[in-house]
Amino acid sequence: MTNSQNLICVTCPRGCSLTISYDDQDQITITGNQCKRGAAYAKAELSDPRRMIASTVRIRGGIHKMLPISTNAPFPKGKIMNLMAFLKSVEISAPVKMGDILIENVLNTGIAMVASRNMEKID
Ligand code: SF4
Repeated sequence: MTNSQNLICVTCPRGCSLTISYDDQDQITITGNQCKRGAAYAKAELSDPRRMIASTVRIRGGIHKMLPISTNAPFPKGKIMNLMAFLKSVEISAPVKMGDILIENVLNTGIAMVASRNMEKID
């Protein structure tokens, strides 16, 4: 008997519909991908699903009260709730430049949080 599950590859805008099939020996077959990256994406989704994360943190002394930030690499899906809780406790000081690393190795994942825009200091 063969089981299968479907997945949309989000690696590029083409968005191929992938089918992951398992045979009786749990061997995996991936179909529907139009390039090798789709197969790699499907395998990663099965073993270690990750997402790019965008959020905001408080910023002190800036022209706005909140600073948009993002991860610099896909973040483990299972730790996203912990990340969001942690970011609520974070406050950055202005000024900040887009791309600045604000938090290194967040939650010991090896991933950094970076500024998504410049934030000038208020005069
Ligand atoms: S399988 Fe390849 S072409 Fe299709 S969405 Fe993924 S990266 Fe793009």
